[in-house]
Amino acid sequence: MTDNDSIVSNFVTFDIEEWYHANYVGQAGSGEISSANLFANVESLLDLCDEHKIRSTCFILGCVARDKPEVVRLILDRGHEVASHGFNHELIDKLTPVGFREDISKAKAILEDIAGVVVRGYRAPSWSVTRQNMVWFYDTLAEAGYSYSSSVYPGRTHLFGIPGFPTFPHHPNLGEERTSILEIPHAMTTVCGKKIAFSGGFFLRLLPTEFIRRNIERVNRKGLPVFIYLHPREIDVESPRLNLGLVNRFIHYYNIANTRDKLSGVMKGHKFILMKDYSVFDVARNSNKKSDKARSHTTDELESSSYEA
Ligand SMILES: [Zn+2]
Repeated sequence: MTDNDSIVSNFVTFDIEEWYHANYVGQAGSGEISSANLFANVESLLDLCDEHKIRSTCFILGCVARDKPEVVRLILDRGHEVASHGFNHELIDKLTPVGFREDISKAKAILEDIAGVVVRGYRAPSWSVTRQNMVWFYDTLAEAGYSYSSSVYPGRTHLFGIPGFPTFPHHPNLGEERTSILEIPHAMTTVCGKKIAFSGGFFLRLLPTEFIRRNIERVNRKGLPVFIYLHPREIDVESPRLNLGLVNRFIHYYNIANTRDKLSGVMKGHKFILMKDYSVFDVARNSNKKSDKARSHTTDELESSSYEA
């Protein structure tokens, strides 16, 4: 065993969508569509990955792939994983099971046609998996040929979230048996009594780099991974702006000028792999290298991951 084998793996993930793909109620701005920066922003993120010798998992919207196949080819040619973010950034709770299946099948077919590789991973737009749609979400993903999902926020966002959902990778148990889909949810921490996902989007832009690094290491000590996530627009001060109210504008655009450097600081010294290369057995394997206390903690969590949907 090498030293590297004993380090817990994490993931760098990017949701590849345009600046106007957000789900704020009553948002304006998407009529004046300009997308000139997307390719350059993705390239900049991949350059940063190269600097750290990291490969990322990119959840790409089907409509972006259709309109800009060169972005998909760039991601693939640079050695990163092509995964699906659905076709048109439609929230799952606004779709029927049939509509959801059409959305994710269409996205998968377009991505696979351009990339020439099997697409295994899916991320829901705006973490829109809920306790209600979970009962068909995982079955539908499996039927459409996906094998893992990274779609659950185990707390509350301004839109969605599932408080109480396990914060480690597992195959959710929704009744008689566990789904074949591996769910890799957000890792969480607690700030001022509120559970937050510290490693992506607004919180990554807001929180101090050292705080994020310490929390990655805290989760890794349990043998569990953390995923980082960002959108290309989050490193682009010149990106067109949505017409949002004060609070949502703050959440959407805070600290964009410094985010690329911050991401670099968070990446430093941690191990990252592609999500498709991760197995739930890695949780058990990594926990076996830790103390008895850590091992029993992880085992208990895995055993108790049968919960009410
Ligand atoms: Zn998205």
